[in-house]
Amino acid sequence: MITESEGIVLKQVKTVGGRRMIVLLTKRFGKISAGTSIDEKGKNRSALALRPFTYGKYELYKNADNFHLNVGETIASHYGIGGDVDKYMAASYVMEFTEKLAVEGMVCTELFRLLSDFLDIIERRTKKFGILVIAYILKALKISGHAPILEACVRCGKREALNSIDIKEGGILCGECRNSANSNERLIYDVEFDIVNALRYLTDQPLHKLERLALDDATLESLWRIMKAYLSYHLEISGLKSEEFL
Ligand SMILES: [Zn+2]
Repeated sequence: MITESEGIVLKQVKTVGGRRMIVLLTKRFGKISAGTSIDEKGKNRSALALRPFTYGKYELYKNADNFHLNVGETIASHYGIGGDVDKYMAASYVMEFTEKLAVEGMVCTELFRLLSDFLDIIERRTKKFGILVIAYILKALKISGHAPILEACVRCGKREALNSIDIKEGGILCGECRNSANSNERLIYDVEFDIVNALRYLTDQPLHKLERLALDDATLESLWRIMKAYLSYHLEISGLKSEEFL
């Protein structure tokens, strides 16, 4: 069956005989892997539409659960992302993260829209890519039902004196619960209320509203350390190639 969908190229993998597998986050079919024989070195429109970060429209041949990519047409190349190393690394991290998070064949238009927005916004940005990446992760976790609990203590539900984050429990702890927790627990981070606030803010505000948000480097580093521990513990997402972007 010939079908088509808009999609975003997450990555390309070389396979045998010079063929390639394209991993796409599509609007219509969720995350898919599609084989293609489009020549990478060709300068035709289809070859260009297979580059990572590209938002395009793809003609697919679907046979049971297998896809073959016949033709691609670029809608937004996001070519500008490649012009800055830090930007490129930050965006690469998001692509790797999304590829791990998205479940093959599960349609999620919200995640698709979020990734498309992220790519448009980071392409225009000139600095502070880290905030954008952390905000993207938090929103993607929320969409996929894996978000940390930030409204109240995960153990007792209290909303005051929230002063630590318990990675294993998946959210914040109040002072009392913190004190009764094993004090040698490696995966509990004592945090300033600023950090909790920042996590909430980044989860709830739309990406395009974060343009003017400035967080100091120490706050950003703490956020990133917490997010990395969280992703590693709950989703086994760690050691990504582009992880050192911050
Ligand atoms: Zn508590």
